[in-house]
Amino acid sequence: EKLYGVSRWGGGYFEVGENGNVHVTPVPSDKSIRIDFQALIDEIRDEGVQFPVVVRFHDVLRSQVASLNTTFRDVITEAEYTGKYQGVYPVKVNQMREVVEEIVDAGEPFDYGLEAGSKAELITALALNNNENSLTILNGYKDEECMRLALLGRKLGRKMVVVVEKYTELLLLVKIAKELEIDPIIGVRSKMTVKGRGKWEGSGGERAKFGLTIAEIIKTARYLEEQGMGHCLKLLHFHIGSQLTDIRAVKEAISEGARIYADLHKMGFALDYVDVGGGLGIDYDGSASTNESSRNYTLHEYVADVVYGMKEVCDLEKVPHPNLVSESGRAITAHHSCVITEIVGEIRSNSAEIDTTPAENEHVFVKNIRELEDYFDEQTSMQEVFNDASQYKEQALDAFKLRVLSLEELGKIETIYWRIMSRLRTWYANEEYVPEELQELDYSLSSQYLCNFSVFQSAADTWAIDQLLPVVPLTRMNEKPSVNCTLVDITCDSDGKLDQFTVGREITDILPMHPLKNGENYYAGLFLTGAYQDVMGDMHNLFGRLNEVHIYSHDDDPQDFYIEEVVKGSSVQDVLNIMQYNPRAMAYDVKKLIDKQVSAGNIRPREGVRWTDFYENCLAGYTYLKTGR
Ligand code: PLP
Repeated sequence: EKLYGVSRWGGGYFEVGENGNVHVTPVPSDKSIRIDFQALIDEIRDEGVQFPVVVRFHDVLRSQVASLNTTFRDVITEAEYTGKYQGVYPVKVNQMREVVEEIVDAGEPFDYGLEAGSKAELITALALNNNENSLTILNGYKDEECMRLALLGRKLGRKMVVVVEKYTELLLLVKIAKELEIDPIIGVRSKMTVKGRGKWEGSGGERAKFGLTIAEIIKTARYLEEQGMGHCLKLLHFHIGSQLTDIRAVKEAISEGARIYADLHKMGFALDYVDVGGGLGIDYDGSASTNESSRNYTLHEYVADVVYGMKEVCDLEKVPHPNLVSESGRAITAHHSCVITEIVGEIRSNSAEIDTTPAENEHVFVKNIRELEDYFDEQTSMQEVFNDASQYKEQALDAFKLRVLSLEELGKIETIYWRIMSRLRTWYANEEYVPEELQELDYSLSSQYLCNFSVFQSAADTWAIDQLLPVVPLTRMNEKPSVNCTLVDITCDSDGKLDQFTVGREITDILPMHPLKNGENYYAGLFLTGAYQDVMGDMHNLFGRLNEVHIYSHDDDPQDFYIEEVVKGSSVQDVLNIMQYNPRAMAYDVKKLIDKQVSAGNIRPREGVRWTDFYENCLAGYTYLKTGR
């Protein structure tokens, strides 16, 4: 447990039990509810669902919604802040229907709303958010249809806010609102001078893609006033980036935003809401630091900085406290889903050994490296052993290309080389000083565990932006993990790998795992995939969406849970259809080819039927490896 830091990044949801299995406590305030991952894996298998699988813990989603809202409520009461909290969930972070529906349902008592950043998301939000007290916020670039859809929201009695991202949008909105005679609720997004901290810091600053400059905000307000619509301007919005690693960025943004709000108020524009955007970070590596995959604050600290920061400026400027809106997506969804993948094999650079006993007329290179191995214990400088062995191996390769060395001899040299490297690693294991070149030994001697999944489908950010996602074995944690490895996926792409892990208190490129046992399944869990990863993946190598199981815990039995729904992942024909193939025609073509071989007498008729059925079954089957156990 300490090695993998599960409770450090687990957010109160994930821990390791005494039996060595990871378990989830979906409602952190009720520790008696506990789901063991081994039991979960067994249940998934019994249901006949093939791995890899995305597991969604709906109770975790609900807990996160409640926790964000109650923290705001509590801090608001404690601070004697006179505005309310009216958060919205940004649909783009995870657009899955079941996820959005669960969030809307869990958010109902808090009048928690939705945020849309595109036309399709707006159409979704219009249908799903039917609470007339909660907000629906429309951000992003908009066309005339978007404006009309937003005004339809007003007609339906929704608190639909159109946030103006650029000045021309305002002119369009005013024109259509007048034509339809509907009063819109308008927000303005401010381009902030303060920059976020972390990977997404480009969302703030003068070169930010979205938002209005101060001059444009003033122009917007004045234009609305001229048009007799000054009263429609209700919300000030800003967003300085996702995954803010340093709380100082939050403090700075709040004080800048609060000043803009206060001055607009004094200019006669009495806004009702200040929307502080997203950015509430997740501690992916469990270090509680300003590392890119972490954050140096808690939820409570974040909320306190928003509430007290706003109050301080408003009290100083003698303006009312606005209602507060936040658009936290990552924090709401990250913990609720994980990917369970089976380790289906091990790849080792030194796995295959051939017989290295001396042969007649053997090349001198083989003799040299064998001598190095034979006299290993008598060597005085291990650095020299490494240098010599490496040189012999390089020379051997050149000699092989020049046809001076045979394939057999090269194989012997490789075998001896890797044996020497293993001995060097053991020798250096207890040394304080390890020469730089030899520090790589652990990595080059490590195994690669082959995981039945695709990084590009299930963990896109680990590949695209080096995001760290916690990955751990789901069982056997009470056994010492003796195999150092990296994890590789089953795509034909060498980028398809995970090689950043939290081990102890460090971020390393090697993960200790347990040796694979014959006839026993071994699973790894990729955690905190609920935000962005779940929906951003692509079909590289035609690996499609994963099978999903949706888990609820039983109210009456804390140890029990049930699979409420199984959502089937993509079949081969599904992904082929997306790529414009016609699977039925393909099956027909292959059948014709088989029939031709039958007619030619190369395949017996009964066997022909079996091949045809087999091809069709594969078309209808899962895109991932069938492990057969
Ligand atoms: N709001 C806006 C405008 C965003 O661009 C984003 C994402 O970057 C979010 C909200 C969600 O941010 P987060 O997932 O960090 O909470």
